[in-house]
Amino acid sequence: MIIAIDGPSGAGKSTVAKLISKTLNFEYIDTGAMYRALAYKAFKNSINICKENEDNINEMLKNTSVDYDNNCIYLDGENVNDKIRDEIISKMSSKISTIAYVRLKMVDLQRAIAKNKDVVMDGRDIGTAVFPNANYKFFITATVEKRAKRRYNELIKKGMDVCFDDVLSDIIKRDNNDTTREISPLQIADDAILIDTTEKDINDVVKEILNHVLNGGKNVL
Ligand code: C5P
Repeated sequence: MIIAIDGPSGAGKSTVAKLISKTLNFEYIDTGAMYRALAYKAFKNSINICKENEDNINEMLKNTSVDYDNNCIYLDGENVNDKIRDEIISKMSSKISTIAYVRLKMVDLQRAIAKNKDVVMDGRDIGTAVFPNANYKFFITATVEKRAKRRYNELIKKGMDVCFDDVLSDIIKRDNNDTTREISPLQIADDAILIDTTEKDINDVVKEILNHVLNGGKNVL
C-alpha cells in the first residue's frame, strides 16, 4: 500500500508521515532527504546550482548513489542524515529539485525503493507524479506565516541565531520554486484529501489520516 503525503515546506508532513508509518508499521520514505543529499554533494564539491551549470550537475548525478533505508539517507554509501538539514542545503535542494534530469532520476529511485513494500512517502509530487495511483493521497498545508513560525521555533530550539523575517522569506522562495517549476510543480492531486494544519495539533492530523486509512474517513479514533 502506498500512502502519499504532499505539501509545501513546513506544513508538518514529515512529522505526520513518521507517526503514521510507525502506527501502521509501514516504511517511511522522506523524498526531500533525497534531494537534500544531492544538494549536499553539490555543496561539498563546490558545484553551483543554476541553469547554466546543468551539465556539471547531471555529470555529478551519473556518479552518485542515493538510497533511503530504515529512516536514514545514504549518499554514496555514507549515512548523511545529520549533514543535510542546514539552511544552505535547504536552499540548494530547493534549486536542484527544479532540474528535469534530477527529478527523473529521483522519481525512478523512489519507485524502486517503494517496490513490494507498504510505504508512507512524503514530498511534493508523490500523489501527482511518483505514485499517481497511490492508495491514499493527502495534501497537508498551513498558512505561510504559520509554517515560517514553526520552522523559526525549530531553528531557535536548535540554538541557531535566526531572524523570523529571513525564515519567512526563505519559505516564500521555496514555495515559489516548488509551485512554478516546469516539471511536477507542487499541486494538489485531484483525488487528494486536503488537510489545513494551521490551527491543528499534529496528533489530530495523524488521527484524521488514520481515520481515512483505517475507517474509511469515519471519526473513530
Ligand atoms: O521536504 P524537504 O524540505 O526536506 O525537501 C527539500 C527540497 O526538495 C524542497 O524544498 C523541495 O523543493 C524539494 N522536493 C521536491 N520534491 C519532493 C521532495 C522535495 O522537489 N518530492
